[in-house]
Amino acid sequence: MSKIEMKTPLVEMDGDEMTRILWKMIKDELLAPYIELKTEYYDLGLENRNETDDQVTIDSAEATKKYGVAVKCATITPNAARVEEYKLKEMWKSPNGTIRAILDGTVFRAPIQVKGIDPCVKNWKKPITLARHAYGDVYKNVEIRVPGAGKAELVFTGADGQEIRQTIQEFDGPGVVQGVHNTDKSITSFAKSCFNYALDTKQDLWFATKDTISKTYDHRFKDIFEEIYQNEYKEKFEKNGLEYFYTLIDDAVARVMKTEGGFIWACKNYDGDVMSDMVSSACGSLAMMTSVLVSPSGVYEYEAAHGTVQRHYYKHLKGEETSTNSVATIFAWTGALRKRGELDGISELCSFADKLEKATLSTIESGKMTKDLALITSMKDVTVLNSEGFIKAIRETFDAM
Ligand code: NAP
Ligand code: MG
Repeated sequence: MSKIEMKTPLVEMDGDEMTRILWKMIKDELLAPYIELKTEYYDLGLENRNETDDQVTIDSAEATKKYGVAVKCATITPNAARVEEYKLKEMWKSPNGTIRAILDGTVFRAPIQVKGIDPCVKNWKKPITLARHAYGDVYKNVEIRVPGAGKAELVFTGADGQEIRQTIQEFDGPGVVQGVHNTDKSITSFAKSCFNYALDTKQDLWFATKDTISKTYDHRFKDIFEEIYQNEYKEKFEKNGLEYFYTLIDDAVARVMKTEGGFIWACKNYDGDVMSDMVSSACGSLAMMTSVLVSPSGVYEYEAAHGTVQRHYYKHLKGEETSTNSVATIFAWTGALRKRGELDGISELCSFADKLEKATLSTIESGKMTKDLALITSMKDVTVLNSEGFIKAIRETFDAM
């Protein structure tokens, strides 16, 4: 059988620890035997980030802009312990943060559902995709612990000297105040990424905020989404039989529980943070969740939603057996290969991605899985495989298909 040829290289961002081990196994066992893999390789492992003064992270994001599609392995975000462990020149920033700042995107996360690993919410038949705005609000806040009686004011001083002033509260004793912001530019990017992703994946789009209470701030989000929808997307949505609607976050939460899933739920930064945790934990495991960063200009970066699985890596280093789930990392590769296939018109690449995903899920459904899933499955008599054994079992299923 001849291997599938690629046209444009994928931007490959290698990473750290256990996921770096899985990365190589996936390439060797599941990709290279079938595809003439064409990638532009960037080593985002912490050692190389340190060696290049983190330039490699910036270069990989620039390459993503150039080629359009990247696949990223989980990476360590250094803290004080890592600075010591890796003898770092400095505490390098989160690679995801750096890449996101360069690509200006929205993160879409969806659970990978499989028979035998059932969501806690019984009627969720299809995955619910969370679209989280990743800029501003409470994540870029300014806070004051009010010491005692006094007046708190909100003041805006324009570049032209214009002043807008409002009283927040006349305090008669101690308390707290907080200032948050967002920008039309960032909200616009967020909205466009959501509309594009909905069209791309052929799913309805929900957007919800608390505009009844936040009549200026949240209302601005609602208005920007509505304006962009009416001007740029309404026709395309209608042509594809898709729906966009805005509703109050309270209503969205109530409705989400009663649907069967299969739509995109766009959330402001904080709402997206907690609601994606809720959806993923209701679906069983972080290792069963896809994650893709989509920029408003239509650039894609696929990754797993989990980290480098440090605890398993230390066991691996000691020569002990690990049972680390590679599903999210496999799906990062299939997502990126499918997108590359779509953009370059290589249908074999798209069907390869579909088939590999199917083989992965069938392997689990046949009762062969890693330990994290064995602990939560409703299936009886399952076989718990080690990290490598699970990937080899997927290959067997794939070849049999
Ligand atoms: P983590 O790597 O996601 O692992 C947390 C725990 O979740 C693991 O110890 C394991 O539980 C379970 N788990 C996660 N992924 C799994 C998988 N694929 N298969 C089986 N079990 C899995 O999070 P962390 O330990 O907080 O972070 C480790 C490193 O990852 C940190 O340096 C952090 O900076 C980095 N990180 C990177 C990203 C990213 O690049 N996107 C995201 C988050 C964290 P048990 O130990 O109980 O088996
Ligand atoms: Mg969270």
